[in-house]
Amino acid sequence: SREWHLLSRPVGWPEPGDFALVEAEVRQPGEGQVLVRNVYVSVDPYMRGRMSAAKSYVAPYELNKPMQGGAVGEVVASNAEGIEPGDHVLHFFGWREYAVVDAKNAVKVDPEAAPLSAYLGVLGMTGLTAYAGLLRTAAFTEGDAVFVSGAAGAVGSQVGQIARLKGASRVIGSAGSDEKVKLLVEEYGFDAAFNYRNGPVGKQLRAAAPDGIDVYFDNVGGEHLEAAIGSLNRGGRIAVCGMISIYNDTEPAPGPKNLARLIQTRGRIEGFLVNDHYDLQPQFVEEVGAWVRSGALKYRETVVEGIENNLEAFLGVLRGDNIGKMVVRL
Ligand code: NDP
Repeated sequence: SREWHLLSRPVGWPEPGDFALVEAEVRQPGEGQVLVRNVYVSVDPYMRGRMSAAKSYVAPYELNKPMQGGAVGEVVASNAEGIEPGDHVLHFFGWREYAVVDAKNAVKVDPEAAPLSAYLGVLGMTGLTAYAGLLRTAAFTEGDAVFVSGAAGAVGSQVGQIARLKGASRVIGSAGSDEKVKLLVEEYGFDAAFNYRNGPVGKQLRAAAPDGIDVYFDNVGGEHLEAAIGSLNRGGRIAVCGMISIYNDTEPAPGPKNLARLIQTRGRIEGFLVNDHYDLQPQFVEEVGAWVRSGALKYRETVVEGIENNLEAFLGVLRGDNIGKMVVRL
């Protein structure tokens, strides 16, 4: 069985030499454990943070140990009550072909109810991030004009569609290619979208949202955040979900301008972490699951084949190669 190890902590953009795909023995499950053959493993931007030594809300990856991340797989051996071989589970030991998992850390999922990969994306962690961040942190209400960056990605594409389905007055998205922009308008029903590589974000946002915005859902930081404050209406709210534009920076980026505008707008800017919002999971799966089944909410996944391409898939997320949730199929 093969698994990915971190050999050295990347400085700036991660290099292939910082990682190794290593052969490991498949262990049998101990008391209360199951052996899982991973079918899909997740690659997510937050993993870049875990490659650094800096203290954060999750511990850094240990050097010369298997890396971790979301995964779904099939149970091939069980030493735990309530889980049988043939069951499918969601767990946190990705970046490897086989995993021994404590049953208490594995959640059974139903492959008949949704495709297995959906439990990593549209009905999983990134979906809940969109749902909780928009409805709870940004306190979205009907009639709000909503701007979301990273809008063709896993979180962003769902933020825009949930806002539309809940009665936003206008939904605006930004993404890094003309192909993604087309998808936002034609398939996801955004009212306006722009390619941030085609010109200054502030100018493109003002053109796309001439009456301003009430909510900005930030996946990107930097120039996007500055532009959003510049277009914020009175009482506007900003949910700070991620700042992918700075994850590989080696020098602090220049700070956002426009911050003083929060005074005149009585605007609110608030960070959030999906981990605090799992109480919303049942409500989220019920509401968003129904939209997915009816086709009211659409989603894409970018699927990369093979454990040997796990690292390349992760780097692809940082570059923007993905449309929607990026997953690796083993
Ligand atoms: P995505 O599927 O959105 O993939 C990341 C995307 O970021 C890429 O596709 C790329 O698209 C875009 N991107 C990369 N570099 C830049 C840049 N310099 N400027 C603008 N866009 C860039 O990933 P996720 O949906 O999983 O995550 C989205 C954000 O949400 C991330 O910031 C992540 O860290 C955060 N997050 C936060 C959570 C929380 O609890 N707070 C939980 C989960 C995610 P493009 O082609 O458009 O550039």
